Amino acid sequence: MFTLREFYEADSIKDAYDILTKSKRNMVLGGNMFLKMSNKKLGVGIDLSNLHLNKININDRIISIGTSVTLSQLEENSFLQSYSGGVIKKMIETISSKQLRNMATVGASVYANYGFSDIVPVFLALNARVHLYNGGWMNLSDFINRRKTSGNRDILIEVEIPIEESFAYYTGVRATAGDFCILNLTLSRIKDEFKVVVGARPMKAIIAERTSEYITEHYDILTFDELVKNAGEILVNEVEFGTNMRASKEYRTYLSKGLLQKALKEVLNENIAYD
Ligand SMILES: Cc1cc2nc3c(=O)[nH]c(=O)nc-3n(C[C@H](O)[C@H](O)[C@H](O)COP(=O)(O)OP(=O)(O)OC[C@H]3O[C@@H](n4cnc5c(N)ncnc54)[C@H](O)[C@@H]3O)c2cc1C
Repeated sequence: MFTLREFYEADSIKDAYDILTKSKRNMVLGGNMFLKMSNKKLGVGIDLSNLHLNKININDRIISIGTSVTLSQLEENSFLQSYSGGVIKKMIETISSKQLRNMATVGASVYANYGFSDIVPVFLALNARVHLYNGGWMNLSDFINRRKTSGNRDILIEVEIPIEESFAYYTGVRATAGDFCILNLTLSRIKDEFKVVVGARPMKAIIAERTSEYITEHYDILTFDELVKNAGEILVNEVEFGTNMRASKEYRTYLSKGLLQKALKEVLNENIAYD
């Protein structure tokens, strides 16, 4: 269990950021689910609970998710139950337990960008953007490629997902329910553009750019079997896989083709009228 020297309830994001940047040992607190697994001795724990960042706001263009929104709030939101095939809800409900999802926050999950994440790949596939206090707005894809240093620590304020004519499918393999994924894959179709994102490789999630481009250009001219075969080959050549206690690099490489086939079947069978 981690220990805090001081617990601080921030009055504003600026206030929180000022405290955060005073010392490397000061830390923003989310739901504490991941932090509590460490033995870190921290300085000031910065609580954002008073900042009203626990809301999901939806209009006709965007879904805006405050940093303190819990995974359960995402899972239970009525719009997200069906948006883009209900991919967010379907992904969230595979994560650990309801007790954990009641506490773990979206902001921490995105900011920490864990290698095992199921959340970041799905948000990437839906073209999410993030709002950082100091860094401002940026695409999630740029944020995850940004090198984190002690000098650019920041606070994630919200995540925004554009509402588009889309369908997305998330699939993953776990050795047991509640464990981290051995591998996950999300395929989205936004109008006629496909995007493949691979997570839990076990390295951080990555957009398979060449595979996505190939599917976008060939999905309506090749047979399903040809598409699966060719796209699968491109995928394993462009995405790097690794070995950890859950699975070997070879197993993940093999598995990725199967997950892509499953996702292609689901997404191509979906009868959405794309303009
Ligand atoms: C047992 C267990 C199993 C899990 N299984 C999965 C899984 O299968 N799939 C999956 O995707 N995830 C999984 N997770 C991760 C989980 O979904 C959350 O991402 C994780 O717990 C972090 O959320 P939290 O709110 O608890 O963050 P905390 O533990 O409070 O914080 C984690 C880190 O994020 C930082 N942070 C928090 N909020 C902000 C902010 N607003 N801005 C900047 N930095 C911030 C903190 O300073 C800290 O460094 C699991 C976690 C646990 C503990």
